[in-house]
Amino acid sequence: MPNRSSSFDVVVVGAGVVGLGVGWRAAQRGLRVLVVDCAERPGAGASAVAAGMLAPISETIATELPLMRLGLASACAYPEFVAEVTEASGMHPGYERCGTLLAARDADEAEALARELELRRSLGLAVNRLLGSEARRLEPALAPTLRLALEIPDDHAIDPRKLSAALAAALTRAGGELRLGAPVRGVTVAEDRVAGVALGDGSTVTVENVVVAAGPWASTLDGIPDGAQIPVHPIKGQILRLHDPTGPGLLTRVLRMTGGYVVPRGDGRYVIGATMEERGFDTTVTAGGAFELLRNAFELLPSVTELVIDELSAGLRPATPDNAPAIGPGAISGLHWAVGHYRHGILLTPITAELVVGALVGEGAIPDEFAPTRFAGVAAAVA
Ligand SMILES: Cc1cc2nc3c(=O)[nH]c(=O)nc-3n(C[C@H](O)[C@H](O)[C@H](O)COP(=O)(O)OP(=O)(O)OC[C@H]3O[C@@H](n4cnc5c(N)ncnc54)[C@H](O)[C@@H]3O)c2cc1C
Repeated sequence: MPNRSSSFDVVVVGAGVVGLGVGWRAAQRGLRVLVVDCAERPGAGASAVAAGMLAPISETIATELPLMRLGLASACAYPEFVAEVTEASGMHPGYERCGTLLAARDADEAEALARELELRRSLGLAVNRLLGSEARRLEPALAPTLRLALEIPDDHAIDPRKLSAALAAALTRAGGELRLGAPVRGVTVAEDRVAGVALGDGSTVTVENVVVAAGPWASTLDGIPDGAQIPVHPIKGQILRLHDPTGPGLLTRVLRMTGGYVVPRGDGRYVIGATMEERGFDTTVTAGGAFELLRNAFELLPSVTELVIDELSAGLRPATPDNAPAIGPGAISGLHWAVGHYRHGILLTPITAELVVGALVGEGAIPDEFAPTRFAGVAAAVA
């Protein structure tokens, strides 16, 4: 693997949580790593906007069980991952083992929730059925109209902004280089293998291994031949950040309802998300978006009206045609992928870093469902 004619063994394109996680783990394994991002600060893409739910059980879908298993593996890795990042960076990434409540507002939602309960029980996942009154004993601020709730004790949350900052510090302390304000124009390929990355200033970094972790912008990179591309497209999400001037305690668990969620940060700050919009690369925020978020939250947590609004922002979830990420080596030798994490990139950061770095050092195998080569030929058709 080491190529002494280059200063680096691997260049990671994109310093979101995924690229930073991969870069840090690669540097820990003794690889000479460069992580490059066009933004001026680490984690400036979707990672800066995400709510940070680590929720493989809440988000289980019967047709996406391999993704659920990947999410469970990543959620299991999280406590150790957080302990290591904290130790390596000297920074706390805001991990809250708070658990989650899925809530139903009316009879239809209660019926849907009963089906969700059966699915999770049939898969052996930890979930408790609570009457509205029982849920309100746990979370007294919930509205009396609450019909039914499922308690998911093992779905937690983290602060993605703190996580990005901690990963960036851990990366550089492990000997990796983080180059910000440096757009990558494309990947250079010679004789069917990676030769380097072309930067926006016209310079080239010679390297044998490139990991593309550029979110939905991965599909805009030059130089990757048709058939070797991954079809990633942006799904916009608007999200609100608020705080309670009276301090923490309004809500202690993540609260999820049809169309939205409220995530407590444990210190009086809350995140209310999120819209799902097909708008290309647009990240404008709208009154309609804010209204939708607040309406959903207000129906279950009326006191949200007392919170102070700090920020309304929008980010772009990187989605693939099958909603699953592309992780590991692709069709071109030396070209690796860590893209398409869609709604789960914060959750999937530990397992993605482990799988990508395992492939870089010749250890471990990527499950077929997440192998980038499953898109051979699809990307050109989608484009
Ligand atoms: C509203 C919202 C809520 C979410 N909530 C959750 C949640 O609760 N839990 C969860 O697990 N996930 C959540 N997600 C999804 C999660 O945010 C993403 O899956 C995750 O952040 C993807 O990380 P990434 O590093 O792949 O991408 P990003 O964070 O977008 O990073 C990509 C980076 O690549 C850089 N880049 C792009 N092009 C170039 C280039 N040409 N040259 C150099 N750099 C480049 C960008 O500047 C960016 O920093 C949410 C997303 C949104 C939008």
